[in-house]
Amino acid sequence: MNDAVLTDTRPEFLHRTDEAKAEDAKAKKQAFEAQKLSKRLHRQVGQAITDFNMIEGGDKVMVCMSGGKDSYAMLDVLMNLQKRAPVAFELVAVNLDQKQPGFPEHVLPEYLTKVGVPFRIEEQDTYSVVKRVIPEGKTTCSLCSRLRRGILYRVASELGCTKIALGHHRDDMLQTLFMNMFFGSKLKGMPPKLVTDNGDHVVIRPMAYCAEKDLATYAEHRQFPIIPCNLCGSQDGLQRQQMREMINEWDRKFPGRVDNMFTALSNIVPSHLMDRSLYPFTTIQASGQPVAGGDIAFDEEESCGPVGESKISIVSIRQQDD
Ligand code: SF4
Repeated sequence: MNDAVLTDTRPEFLHRTDEAKAEDAKAKKQAFEAQKLSKRLHRQVGQAITDFNMIEGGDKVMVCMSGGKDSYAMLDVLMNLQKRAPVAFELVAVNLDQKQPGFPEHVLPEYLTKVGVPFRIEEQDTYSVVKRVIPEGKTTCSLCSRLRRGILYRVASELGCTKIALGHHRDDMLQTLFMNMFFGSKLKGMPPKLVTDNGDHVVIRPMAYCAEKDLATYAEHRQFPIIPCNLCGSQDGLQRQQMREMINEWDRKFPGRVDNMFTALSNIVPSHLMDRSLYPFTTIQASGQPVAGGDIAFDEEESCGPVGESKISIVSIRQQDD
């Protein structure tokens, strides 16, 4: 090495060195954060698979690939988990090429070949069907997704797949919950596991616990070759877009709220809702005995205020009494 460089104390040289050091530190921090994120996503997917018994030994899982960030992340994580899972299962990636104008049909086959996963590209021109049937200016998504669903079920049967994995995540599930509530008058979300409407397949959503923003960062970090999702010319449903903005705004303004809402989906109390088919409101009787977990009919529960508020007020009242 050049000694002159080592001993050069000119300010501009020192400045450059500091910049290089800062760059170095930044790169290290980014690598650390990426590692942390990767661990979190793998843990969340593993947890969802376990909690809902999504994948069992001998399963053949059809991983639906749209070319968007979520499906790439799902395949990536499932391939990693497959290597260290205690049970053996197969993965096969499937993409439906709907013949949308400008769809870069080489991208997915190249990627899937590179990562070494068996795959099938199913070519079906649903785009023309949708354009022909739906009048200009009307929403095309419902027919498009119905056609897509039918084709994917058929492909799953042809491939002998026992599970169909979709890349929906936590935010999709919350958006669906609110859409059903706001526009459909139903308290109904998007389940992590379900039997298909034709009764033939089990659909799983291994990314159920993952946050969309984490998946976006992961996709960037892993440099997945993302295919744009607006090639069909249709905008993402306006209602879903509204739900997304509402939830994202809450997330910005009230950290923790989205996590709490998501956790609430697993903590349902039918006796405190109004569905008579889930709880026998018409026949309940006072027994004269304390009921475990019974209601405090006239008091607001602690969780009804901002987090911690009720507890603080109770403690402060007690302190005043002392
Ligand atoms: S956005 Fe386009 S591709 Fe997606 S469901 Fe709607 S019409 Fe189909």
